[in-house]
Amino acid sequence: MVDFEKLAAKLSGPSALITDLEGWEDYFKDATEESVRPRAVVMAKCESDVIATIRFAKEARLTVTGRGTGTGLSGGAVPDGDSIVLSLERMKELSIYPERTMAVCGPGVITKELLDAAAEHELTYPPDPASYEECTLGGNVAENAGGLRCKRFGVTRDYVVGLRMVTSDGSIVTTGLLSERQGFNIQDVIIGSEGTLGIITQIAVRLVPSPSVGSTLLVAFDDPADAGRTVADIIAGGIVPTVMEYIDRDAAECSNRYEATEGLEDAGAILLIETSDEKDEEQTEAVSDLCRRNHCTTLRIACDTDDVKTLWRVRRNLSKAVKEMAKIRYNEDVAVPVSQFMTMVSFVADMNASSPLRINAFGHAGDGNLHVSFLAMTGDEAERKMIQKGVEELFHKTLELGGTLSGEHGIGKHKAAYLSWEFDEPTIRAMKKVKNVFDSESLMNRGKIFS
Ligand SMILES: Cc1cc2nc3c(=O)[nH]c(=O)nc-3n(C[C@H](O)[C@H](O)[C@H](O)COP(=O)(O)OP(=O)(O)OC[C@H]3O[C@@H](n4cnc5c(N)ncnc54)[C@H](O)[C@@H]3O)c2cc1C
Repeated sequence: MVDFEKLAAKLSGPSALITDLEGWEDYFKDATEESVRPRAVVMAKCESDVIATIRFAKEARLTVTGRGTGTGLSGGAVPDGDSIVLSLERMKELSIYPERTMAVCGPGVITKELLDAAAEHELTYPPDPASYEECTLGGNVAENAGGLRCKRFGVTRDYVVGLRMVTSDGSIVTTGLLSERQGFNIQDVIIGSEGTLGIITQIAVRLVPSPSVGSTLLVAFDDPADAGRTVADIIAGGIVPTVMEYIDRDAAECSNRYEATEGLEDAGAILLIETSDEKDEEQTEAVSDLCRRNHCTTLRIACDTDDVKTLWRVRRNLSKAVKEMAKIRYNEDVAVPVSQFMTMVSFVADMNASSPLRINAFGHAGDGNLHVSFLAMTGDEAERKMIQKGVEELFHKTLELGGTLSGEHGIGKHKAAYLSWEFDEPTIRAMKKVKNVFDSESLMNRGKIFS
């Protein structure tokens, strides 16, 4: 029998511990399908709440699942039946240091809140997951989140300059600018560790001057392969647009049903591109030329700010739009070298054409990133089996093309069984040894990354 009263007495407020979980079902899951009831939820307000929870869990032989806002797409924040879900969403301290072009944040700061605060000083934080209005900085660091602008500006890892993390024995590890010492680069091990090494309680990030915005283009193609080839040609031509997103016919259809937008009808595939401002005119011309050479059917350049907003809403809405079209959505986020992007998008289009399932794709094309959704219309057993088979075919093809099974959403729970498809045995052994150094009893986010 676990005596939760002992934990309640150590937390900063009486409402921080929830053991009657009626009405707390959102904390049983992330943005994927699975939902597991934990033993308790702790709404941490400060680092000492995190330490108290982890020490209590260790003593009570419970596990700890860190949670931002649960927008993850790999089951990373789904607890197990022995978990305390440790929510960091109330840890929202945020300080901007304009003279040092950096910010120090609590893990619960929403990415957009950081962007808005930085913008007041004409600064920005470039990594911008499509979920930036909802997800937390802690979740971004734990997943090494990417985003729309990441081909040009880099991913979360490229902007983290310091971390504080509470490990499984309740001690604190500090790195980078938040550390007093030099030495091993532990920070790079923590970034992307998906809550399996400890709980991140403070994050220092680098800010950069806000870039001005280039032109927004919506380009339609009949054949997805033509859109894929255009992406490769643009990158091979040394052009790095700020954003280059791919949307296939089926995903565009979902988006159009969610919110009708001119130019989405009847396209085999779409590229949504924002050129970089310094070379706006030159880049718009070069990109348009490559699109035409690859047989684009429509090329629309947004004419005013409202038009630009409408076009980017198409992309930001996509995940929700696709999810609404089905009973269940399985979302995979593979990535391949850009030179193979054309082969990959054609492969998905062929899968969709030959399958009774609805399968669509969109993603950050400049990075070779492709979010492939398998839509289950009934969610029955036969359909689930078909999806499983489709996912495994997709994974085989991705690895054959020299890609990776997760471009940005992490391994989490759902891809843990496939880790050995991508990494050889000595590499997995080395990863497990690192895990063991921080968490020898496997209390932190058990069952994630390693099944
Ligand atoms: C509509 C939509 C669009 C998306 N677009 C993108 C995109 O463009 N790019 C992208 O990379 N991702 C994207 N995602 C996925 C998701 O938003 C990111 O992975 C995000 O970083 C998760 O943040 P979160 O706060 O929701 O974390 P959660 O889902 O709560 O947790 C994610 C993982 O991080 C761990 N974790 C959370 N906080 C901490 C902490 N403080 N310390 C230690 N571990 C912690 C959890 O245990 C879990 O393993 C999208 C998701 C949705 C729903």
